[in-house]
Amino acid sequence: MDGVKQQIIALLKENIRNIPDFPKPGIQFKDITPLLQNPDTLELTSQALARPFRHMDIDYVVGLESRGFLFGTNLAQDLHAGFIPIRKPGKLPADTISATYALEYGEEAIEIHEDAFSRGDRILIHDDLIATGGSAKTATQLVEELGGHVVGYSFIIELEALQGSDQLSDDIPKDILISL
Ligand code: AMP
Repeated sequence: MDGVKQQIIALLKENIRNIPDFPKPGIQFKDITPLLQNPDTLELTSQALARPFRHMDIDYVVGLESRGFLFGTNLAQDLHAGFIPIRKPGKLPADTISATYALEYGEEAIEIHEDAFSRGDRILIHDDLIATGGSAKTATQLVEELGGHVVGYSFIIELEALQGSDQLSDDIPKDILISL
């Protein structure tokens, strides 16, 4: 990594806040609201997210509810792509397909509009953070079920110890700005 890029990433890292025991005891919540609040880090984060995918002919950025929406729409605009939300059950108004995945306790379901894109479209999946990788993996299944071609993953943060990237194909490029 060149010096300037390193300095930018260090600045972004300083603007991620750790909130202990949120939303429940034992969780170290990585809060990106300071990144959004400061106009300079808002711009730098958006640029850093878009850069690796500028020449990849992305048709759509698929953002995961809810913090994947915050930079996801910016990212789509920067790439001149459309934006598609993946949401929790019951939030999307038109016909959907859904998939479930296991959480530490219980399970989580996510949904996408079944007419969100056309077969063969090139999709970039984005979220603020990858932890176990369960949500990104399940989002991939939804996109592929609709005939989409996942060509990249974009995360601001990875929680390295949880090895979530191992859940995703080695053949698909992943861009992670900050490993914690
Ligand atoms: P996972 O499916 O385990 O990779 O979890 C990723 C999703 O959970 C993302 O949508 C994150 O926003 C959220 N998430 C999980 N752990 C954290 C954390 N420690 N801090 C902030 N968000 C988290």
